Amino acid sequence: MLTEANRAGVIGALQQYWGFDELRPLQAEAIAAGLDRRDSLVVMPTGGGKSLCFQIPPLLENRTDVVVSPLIALMKDQVDGLRANGYPAAAIHSGLTDAERLQIAEELRAGELRLVFVSPEKLLTNRFIEMLREINVRSFAIDEAHCVSHWGHDFRPEYRRLAELKRYFPKSSIHAFTATATERVRADIVKQLELENPAILVGDFDRPNLVYRVIPRDDRIGQIVRVLNRHKQQAAIVYCISRRDTESVCDDLKRRGFNADYYHAGLNAQVRRQKQDAFAREKIDIIVATVAFGMGIDRSDVRCVIHAGMPKSVEHYQQEAGRAGRDGLEAECVLLYSTADVMKWEDLISKSAAEADVSDGILQSMLELLGHMRAYAAGMSCRHGSLVNYFGQAFKTEPCGACDVCLGEIEGIEDATVLAQKILSCVARTEERFGVGHLVDVLKGADTVRVRQFGHQELSTYGLLAEMEKDSIKRRIYDVLDQGLLERKTIESNAKSFQVIGLNSQSWQVMRGERRVMLRELSERRVATAKAEADSWEGVDRGLFEHLRGLRNSIASERDVPAYVVFGDATLRDLARKRPDQVSHLQSVHGIGAAKAKEFGELIVKFIRTHCKNAALATNVGTTEVVEKLRRRKTSSVSAQKRRAFEMFATGAGVEQVAEEVRRAASTIHQYLAEFIETTRPEDISSWVDAGTYQKARAVFEREGTRLLRPAFEACGEEVSYDTLRIIAAHVDCQASQDTVAPSDS
Ligand code: ADP
Ligand code: ZN
Repeated sequence: MLTEANRAGVIGALQQYWGFDELRPLQAEAIAAGLDRRDSLVVMPTGGGKSLCFQIPPLLENRTDVVVSPLIALMKDQVDGLRANGYPAAAIHSGLTDAERLQIAEELRAGELRLVFVSPEKLLTNRFIEMLREINVRSFAIDEAHCVSHWGHDFRPEYRRLAELKRYFPKSSIHAFTATATERVRADIVKQLELENPAILVGDFDRPNLVYRVIPRDDRIGQIVRVLNRHKQQAAIVYCISRRDTESVCDDLKRRGFNADYYHAGLNAQVRRQKQDAFAREKIDIIVATVAFGMGIDRSDVRCVIHAGMPKSVEHYQQEAGRAGRDGLEAECVLLYSTADVMKWEDLISKSAAEADVSDGILQSMLELLGHMRAYAAGMSCRHGSLVNYFGQAFKTEPCGACDVCLGEIEGIEDATVLAQKILSCVARTEERFGVGHLVDVLKGADTVRVRQFGHQELSTYGLLAEMEKDSIKRRIYDVLDQGLLERKTIESNAKSFQVIGLNSQSWQVMRGERRVMLRELSERRVATAKAEADSWEGVDRGLFEHLRGLRNSIASERDVPAYVVFGDATLRDLARKRPDQVSHLQSVHGIGAAKAKEFGELIVKFIRTHCKNAALATNVGTTEVVEKLRRRKTSSVSAQKRRAFEMFATGAGVEQVAEEVRRAASTIHQYLAEFIETTRPEDISSWVDAGTYQKARAVFEREGTRLLRPAFEACGEEVSYDTLRIIAAHVDCQASQDTVAPSDS
């Protein structure tokens, strides 16, 4: 756990750099592991806030940590976001110019960077390892750590080599982060990365801000449009199973005036990158994609994820749906479900297993995963509860108020025993030799070539459901299948195999009247408003919010960064709620730290002032109290430690002794000491630096005429540490200013 002193430091940094007020669950524990440099594995769902866990420790400890990340796009976005917050970070990758590379190397050697992002391939080159040794890197964060495991959904061979890290850097700590929930992958990560006695921190898998819905699919495009209309001009992802579907759905949406594009692995890398960029930069609202679209997108304001087809496992569903609402604001996840998808997957999985010659065991486990997904989609219990239980956690807040079941959108369950009996007897009469299409025809009483060929118009079940639409009959057959009252079977005929619908022991129970069947009502109900949505808009002036989005976009395109790097939606809403008209009040706004207040503050408050004046809206709603509270907290926490350190320096205490007393890293104490020297201007600093070193460094600083540390470091033959140089520079500086100040003083 975090010590009191550390907690104060963490909250101070959170406020200063990110403009957030408190830690989320498990972040404290993960940060503590980072500060203690204890190996750790942190599992949090997408959007849970993993990044802060590796961003904060190097900041407090004044050290440089390395983050391993699988994709350049991902690194760049993170670095852009950090830099916009005033956080010194850089990414090293193949896209850099020589000058950029040199500059970063320079900053690294001077100890100015807190984080450096790198791909695994790059990390494990000799030159890079040498460099990291030189600057004494002692801590590594592995993002998307499931890529190291074969069992994960995204294995990357280059991640495997990360096992070598512990050999190159035996004293370093490794901190793995992933959103993958399965036990097996977790265990594999620990093993592959050779973590020693790691702190294993597994977060809560529920995402309370997501509203889940499962809608039986009938009119696919119409259903997609109805959902998208609830999120006009907001970011949305529509997942399809096949590449062809992405293109056709995208066409349909464009024709209806939506700003959409499609994405799949069949496009070349450059086109894919373009499309991804356009989405990240808000040039496109909706992306229609296969599963290939995923990890590279950091856009946190996705308000809606629609699955036009069912994914093949709950793991996939959770990953993909999880891309909604990463900013913590409400978002909607809709699965358009049809049993036809289950059958399609069954066929695909069996076919590819046969081609790849995989063992029966693996095939069986894939089909099992599919079965779980089907149970989720066809089930009628709380969606949040079902997902969380699937990942082995208990769900305590049922009814959740954020799923179609708990919102009462599908309460219409009817006794459909007679209907089911009709369907089952049709299967029996046609001797379990046909697929769904033909069964529909017989029940409907259709006049088709096949019906006549088999003489099925003579059957007693012919036309038994003539009053129903064909689509409805099909859905009912699917429903009966989903409940396990029918089964798919393979039969051989003329040396070919066919998939047909057959009976099982449960079918006979229904036909004999020993078992009742309940089915979901066919009509689609009106959707209710989830509480999370109502709450997060409370007090927000929508007009101002939309205007601020416009402002954000123009800032972002001017700087050529994604819009969310400038401000997230949560921040815009808070601005449109509190409407601060002075820069000092921006402190009270979620997501605005010192750097952003300084950079955009004037612009924003001016904008808000004008808007509120024109619209006759009140400004500074509840900001004063918050600002006052923050001020009190800030002065009490950070300064308490520093004050204690200053008291000790005044008695000549050494850095180590002070570090022990206030429980901060030596590098932080060195920084305090530099500040102590700047404020108290002591005659000499022999308590902390020996005379020889002092003279040597002082001569260098005076000769160079600057206080830059790196040239001094080299000029001193790399024998005096940066920390020591910093202290000497502070002393030389105040002595120099004393010299110039003195004459005019007298
Ligand atoms: P992950 O990597 O786990 O998917 P991120 O680290 O990207 O999640 O965080 C998701 C979102 O939550 C980001 O917008 C981030 O700024 C925000 N966030 C993280 N921690 C906090 C916090 N303590 N308070 C408020 N917002 C937070
Ligand atoms: Zn629920």
